[in-house]
Amino acid sequence: MSEKFDVVVIGSGPGGYVAAIRAGQLGLKTAIVEKWADDKGAPVFGGTCLNVGCIPSKALLDSSHRFHDAAHNFDVHGISTGEVSIDVPKMIGRKDAVVKQLTGGVAGLLKHNGVTTLQGTGKLLAGKKVEVTAADGTQTVVDADNVILASGSVPVEIPPAPVDNDIVVDSTGALEFDSVPKRLGVIGAGVIGLELGSVWSRLGSEVILIEAMDTFLPANDQTIAKDAFKIFSKQGLDIRLGARVSGTEVKSKEVTVTYTDSEGDKTETFDKLIVCVGRKPVTDNLLAGDSGVNLDERGFIFVNDRCETDVPGVYAIGDIVRGPMLAHKASEEGVMAAELIAGQKPQVNYDTIPGIIYTHPEVGSVGKTEEQLKADGVEYNVGNFPFAAIGRALASNDADGQVKIIADAKTDRILGAHIVGPSAGDLVQEVAIAMEFGSTAEDIGLMTFGHPTVSEAVKEAALAVHGHAIHKANRKKRK
Ligand code: FAD
Ligand code: AMP
Repeated sequence: MSEKFDVVVIGSGPGGYVAAIRAGQLGLKTAIVEKWADDKGAPVFGGTCLNVGCIPSKALLDSSHRFHDAAHNFDVHGISTGEVSIDVPKMIGRKDAVVKQLTGGVAGLLKHNGVTTLQGTGKLLAGKKVEVTAADGTQTVVDADNVILASGSVPVEIPPAPVDNDIVVDSTGALEFDSVPKRLGVIGAGVIGLELGSVWSRLGSEVILIEAMDTFLPANDQTIAKDAFKIFSKQGLDIRLGARVSGTEVKSKEVTVTYTDSEGDKTETFDKLIVCVGRKPVTDNLLAGDSGVNLDERGFIFVNDRCETDVPGVYAIGDIVRGPMLAHKASEEGVMAAELIAGQKPQVNYDTIPGIIYTHPEVGSVGKTEEQLKADGVEYNVGNFPFAAIGRALASNDADGQVKIIADAKTDRILGAHIVGPSAGDLVQEVAIAMEFGSTAEDIGLMTFGHPTVSEAVKEAALAVHGHAIHKANRKKRK
């Protein structure tokens, strides 16, 4: 007889490991299956986020920001540094150490919560059995009362730009360069392309982003996206919109990219090319033909808003299901699935999941955009406030961007907040908390914000919804 668990989780990214920890906390007999191994064959937990996603990209964004600041922004403070140089292998080494610390931490937390780890590739069989195939091909089958599928996502490849992991890389390869490319091409000016392009641009690469869409950041509020486009262009990112890549040719350590825009075919030659055209769910070999779990029309695992698949007791969470591909969304779904299994009644509020681009300045967004509200025919009021009028932002020489708050015209409830500016990721979270409590714009305007902080821009934008902002001339004047 095979061993039986209350819960078996497949995949240990921020969806799966959080689900397993929560299940362990709830006293459920839990196992987690992970196929990722290091070069010595030891299991690696944490998935995309910890190993090749959120964390390593933020480590490099932080290093490159410090370098850029030291090289270009210290002089104005009266600080002279002499020539600033970057030791790329050392920077990459620091990033690797941060990753190792965190993935080791996850292993410790799984152990602490009594979670059994099973090393290998998991596959859901009929009857909630999970087959685990180890690296040497050995197969075992475990029984489960409940299964949580959390196999995540991998980069999309496009035929005109095959990745060779040398000159043409995906987001993972772009975290491992051993020197600063002189000319760097990025296909796709989405979240990941902008972040990785920023890292290498700050370190001195000449960066061109080639983006097929005519609109920059089409899912973001366009007031903020337009502002961000101007700010990033001023920083030196050359973002070419309406430009679709049709071919690449690698020759003598260079790649020539052909793309088509409204003027016709064009070419650019680079030392490195990063392909960042999106991610796709990992469902290959995850489900036996008779598992009973179905995919939706886009190839994601079909689930309802409780992350339940078509098989009772089988849940799917994170990047393999509908919704934004974000680590915190995956984790919240993981907690929800574990608590549902334990008989609790949790839910994820999909209306308040923040999305952040960790450029400098950051772009943060929560709730509906003005474009969505217009399309839905909702009446709303808007308040904007520029960081250029915020004392703390000016004192820090970091005053690009603005806060935009959108509130329902009838109820004044906040429907969305969109920010480009210093600490936008943290500021948008403040509004997300307010939204969770059903806050109106007036409520935020009535709160006391510490002075001087960049968060005062949130209060002022909320006041501006009703024409009451103090530190700017309001267009709408209301008593
Ligand atoms: P994953 O993290 O992809 O984990 C899935 C795990 O399942 C992997 O460990 C994989 O090895 C394992 N697995 C797959 N199939 C099997 C199988 N059959 N058997 C056993 N194991 C299996 N999100 C943010 O919120 N903020 C950010 O700043 C951010 N930055 C990013 C930067 C980059 C460069 C990238 C690539 C992504 C970034 N993301 C960010 C997205 C984020 O990483 C993902 O949304 C998140 O990791 C999804 O979590 P997950 O648990 O669904 O899957
Ligand atoms: P994201 O979905 O945020 O990861 O962004 C991926 C981006 O890549 C999208 O904005 C796509 O429009 C873009 N993209 C996809 N294929 C191509 C292509 N062949 N040439 C240029 N851009 C592309």
